[in-house]
Amino acid sequence: MKKIYLYGNWKMNMTVAETKKFFDGFESAYAPYKNDAGLEVGVFAPFTSLWALADCAKKAGIVFGAENVYSEASGAFTGEVSIPMLQEIGIKYVILGHSERRHIFNEPDEMIAKKVKAVLNANMIPVLCYGETLDERESGHTFDVMGRQLSTAIDGLNPDDVKKIIYAYEPVWAIGTGKSASSEQAQEVCGWSRNLLGIKDVVILYGGSVKASNAKELLSMQDIDGALVGGAALKPESFLDIYKAFKA
Ligand code: PEP
Repeated sequence: MKKIYLYGNWKMNMTVAETKKFFDGFESAYAPYKNDAGLEVGVFAPFTSLWALADCAKKAGIVFGAENVYSEASGAFTGEVSIPMLQEIGIKYVILGHSERRHIFNEPDEMIAKKVKAVLNANMIPVLCYGETLDERESGHTFDVMGRQLSTAIDGLNPDDVKKIIYAYEPVWAIGTGKSASSEQAQEVCGWSRNLLGIKDVVILYGGSVKASNAKELLSMQDIDGALVGGAALKPESFLDIYKAFKA
């Protein structure tokens, strides 16, 4: 049985108090799976909750990370957070290129590529999101768009570094909409991505309205190694029920 990566992106949710409360409930929900080598759980929180997340996640024995970072180490970049700042509090994983960064904050492919390189150079692990909008899918441009996003992000990297990245295919039209891609659509893109990256055992997640009711179908697909989960990751039960449903 393949290993499943279940990563939760809290987005701009969860204060320090809410983070601690989440972990109060997490322990019992996670207990049945704690020693399951077939599952890797991770949680990604806003900057202000990272200190609390690091503390709680270490105790729980799960992966934890940030939702963004800037590529420069220090300087005149008001409002940004650097890699050394994350490292100081023990952060190793960083989500990059989430569609909300790309589309609400207009982060271009080149900026995301710089971040990917900076994170890898710091021996950290990028969780690189990519995916098409509804317009792009409907006009037949899904694969051009994703080809551009992925190729720019890995341009100039050696194969070892390409393999260290965790990829998350997230069709923009499926994020936070309750409307997941079908398992066939998600498999098609994840399989295509694996070919484009040219590395068989690279980790590729699917994200976009994943919940217990669609988990089994999606996570059983050959080229889908796990899920990046938004809404359903805000509560320990709905988050872990995704894995429970896959196993059932
Ligand atoms: C996400 O934020 O990456 C995401 C997939 O959100 P949701 O599961 O809520 O669609």
